[in-house]
Amino acid sequence: MAQPQLANQGIAAASAERLTPTAMLKDQWNMVKELVAADIGANHAKSWINPLDLLGLEGMTLVLGSPNTFAKDWIENHYLDALVKAWKQVNVIIQEVKIVIAEPQVTVANTNSVATAPQIKVVEAFDSFEKDEPGSSYTGAPLDNRFTFENFVVGKPNELAYAAALRVAESSTPQFNPLFLYGGVGLGKTHLMHAIAWKIRQCHPNRKVIYLSAEKFMYQFVRALRYKDMVSFKDQFRAVDVLMIDDVQFISGKDTTQEEFFHTFNALVDKNHQVIVSADKSPSDLENMEERLKSRLGWGLVADIHPTTYELRLGILQAKAAALNTVMPKEVLEFLAFKITSNIRELEGALNRILAHSSLVGRSISLDTTQEVLRDLLRSNDQRLTVEEIQRKVAEYFNIKMSDMVSNRRMQNIARPRQVAMFIAKQLTSKSLPEIGRKFGGRDHTTILHAVRKVQELCADDFDFANDVEILKRSLQT
Ligand code: ADP
Ligand code: MG
Repeated sequence: MAQPQLANQGIAAASAERLTPTAMLKDQWNMVKELVAADIGANHAKSWINPLDLLGLEGMTLVLGSPNTFAKDWIENHYLDALVKAWKQVNVIIQEVKIVIAEPQVTVANTNSVATAPQIKVVEAFDSFEKDEPGSSYTGAPLDNRFTFENFVVGKPNELAYAAALRVAESSTPQFNPLFLYGGVGLGKTHLMHAIAWKIRQCHPNRKVIYLSAEKFMYQFVRALRYKDMVSFKDQFRAVDVLMIDDVQFISGKDTTQEEFFHTFNALVDKNHQVIVSADKSPSDLENMEERLKSRLGWGLVADIHPTTYELRLGILQAKAAALNTVMPKEVLEFLAFKITSNIRELEGALNRILAHSSLVGRSISLDTTQEVLRDLLRSNDQRLTVEEIQRKVAEYFNIKMSDMVSNRRMQNIARPRQVAMFIAKQLTSKSLPEIGRKFGGRDHTTILHAVRKVQELCADDFDFANDVEILKRSLQT
């Protein structure tokens, strides 16, 4: 990880505010942003690089302004090298890049940016925020006591979301508002939201926190409408210090609730109260959501949780096994981490099934029993890709007929793609050689084995061919 390079390396430090970028520097900054995006990926660039302000040049150090310390730290640790590289490429004078905290240069109209300190409220127990009759308070959802920061295993795919969540929980004033967490199903969004709520209760017991799902928010909204109780509905939500709404994608489409959510949201943010939302997509990708709400949701920090990696899955399995006080053979954990790639919820489910099975039948856990107990689950993980799909894709790619995948024609421009399809079938499905052979017009398993070896050989010798195979594999895996 790149260490932050700090100021004052033999260069006179000018105050950042006094710098003004020249037109040339501005043009170069646009080029740098493109270079960095190509380097680190458009999404990361959009979240981290685009919000930076170009402040100017201090000697040989290019100075950029970041809206908050969290972003500054993160960029210094992750993207500084990419920034330095790109700047050096477009401007030979520049040797270093420095990031300072600066107010955003363009302020968006309509914000009440004067920070008001959060008021200390009389403690109101989370669960007493409960009601079903008109006239009493509106309810939050109960918190799961397993969903804490301590129980959250951090890895590359979720390190940003974790760091941001922890920062929000520990700070007494909002550092970024809202915090928008997003990622696919079962990757830990709800876990992190609960962890934030637990932590705030512990660090700032006076702050009034409410956590609820978007569905529940809508339900309560509709209820308030029915009981003509809108005033108290509004007051309740607008009186909290921290509002957390889980799965906010469910608010999309429902016009009146969207409207109410938008107003509640604005009211809280304007008063400098923290809002935290989660969703399955980034703000800009939310469907059926009004533009102004989408853009508003993207104002603070948008932190995504990526699909799991093998290392993270293994780490989670080890942590869960340890928490349950069970010893699991290493090969079983590795097998599960390798096979169950969909999400963490399914991974946990698999682990629980194996444990339940072993305690029921009183047998210790082995790789064999694991495969037996999870047969259906493993098959469904495999069935996501069929040999037919592979054949179709490969035929399309090499522009041959689907029927040639099972035919006996031996011309190389047909036989070669067929071998590629056999090779990929072996690599990406868990079918045996004879099973694959049957799918290719009843060929013998030795034919498949021969194809696998041939393709491996060709890949080693022929870069273009290897590239074709790689592209095909990748397109089939997504
Ligand atoms: P989401 O809300 O994104 O659909 P959840 O937060 O409900 O996912 O997570 C699904 C399950 O996986 C939960 O039981 C949660 O505790 C577990 N989980 C997710 N991420 C992690 C993690 N990094 N470490 C430990 N457990 C995790
Ligand atoms: Mg969830």
